[in-house]
Amino acid sequence: MLSFYSCLKHPEIEQNKQGTCLKCGMRLKAIKKEGKKEDDHSSHNL
Ligand SMILES: [Zn+2]
Repeated sequence: MLSFYSCLKHPEIEQNKQGTCLKCGMRLKAIKKEGKKEDDHSSHNL
């Protein structure tokens, strides 16, 4: 599972560290990118 930082208004902005959007200057938000949907049956919480 990857996580990166992206602007909510500019999803094309992706960085691997905290920072600000180059386009609007907003603080980037941490995004957790889920893997491929191959494990639909194992999505229960532990
Ligand atoms: Zn932005």
